[in-house]
Amino acid sequence: MENEEQNPVRGGILGLVVGDALGVPVESVSREALRREPVTGMRGYGTYHQPPGTWSDDSSLTLCTADALCEGYAPERIARRFVDWLYGNAWTAHGDVFDVGITSAEAIGRLQHGVPHHRAGASGEFSNGNGSLMRILPMAFYLRHNDRAGWFEPVREVSAITHAHLRSALACLYYVHFAAHLCAGAAPEAAYRRSNEDFQAALRRHDIPGDEAAHFSRILDGGIDRLAEHDISSTGYVIHTLEASLWCLLHATSYRETVLRAVNLGHDADSTAAVAGGLAGIAFGHRDIPEEWLAQIAGLDRIEALIARFGEKYGG
Ligand SMILES: [Mg+2]
Repeated sequence: MENEEQNPVRGGILGLVVGDALGVPVESVSREALRREPVTGMRGYGTYHQPPGTWSDDSSLTLCTADALCEGYAPERIARRFVDWLYGNAWTAHGDVFDVGITSAEAIGRLQHGVPHHRAGASGEFSNGNGSLMRILPMAFYLRHNDRAGWFEPVREVSAITHAHLRSALACLYYVHFAAHLCAGAAPEAAYRRSNEDFQAALRRHDIPGDEAAHFSRILDGGIDRLAEHDISSTGYVIHTLEASLWCLLHATSYRETVLRAVNLGHDADSTAAVAGGLAGIAFGHRDIPEEWLAQIAGLDRIEALIARFGEKYGG
């Protein structure tokens, strides 16, 4: 049963943006410090001295991707939008870029210098930050009605615009599966089980080496939700962000609870909450995103207009 009543496109994209904005003021703050003074709502200032409701690169690159997909799938168009963002401030909250990861900045710099999208992303093992995971969500909406056997190639291609290592591509693929199951109406626990099955099948189908697949073992063991908070890391490493986002969602009964858990894990708070928030907005529905948070989001009208345009193509 398709989950249209929940409007997964609106829930997912707004869920990601709001999660990002909740985390921006405390990006890089430690978990210990947040335990003393937890985030409970939309704050302003802090790490980047931005007003409340300011979203960062996670949302910008997600919106760039959705914008490009409105005209159909073409990775070179997504790459061009990324250049428009970093060098032209397109899809920014207040007209400037104040947060960008090193791997993404370098790759987009190469794009700007004419390097094609399939050669721009860094492919080293130490270039596995969460910079492609945090912006991959629109690909779930684009792919969800297509044959799953064909998902890996486009997901890998879009990840590789900035993050070309296999691990980043696989993390994105896992997330796309999870989001697609939520879109189809699965509860988080069921989405987790089914994503694990789909992902195992994809690992076999694409002959993924065991030593690379092993990085996903804590997820694929089926017990990520049973780990204690101190076993969940919230650094900018792509595996940490994927694990943390699943852990937050599987421990929550609402959008609010998911994203506040994610933000209060600390460290890469905005990206963890963006990635978790995208899933939670689909799982609990767009109406579960607190109005008082949405009302503070910078440029909400622009985002809503994009969601309407994108939803027309990929919402049904
Ligand atoms: Mg950010």
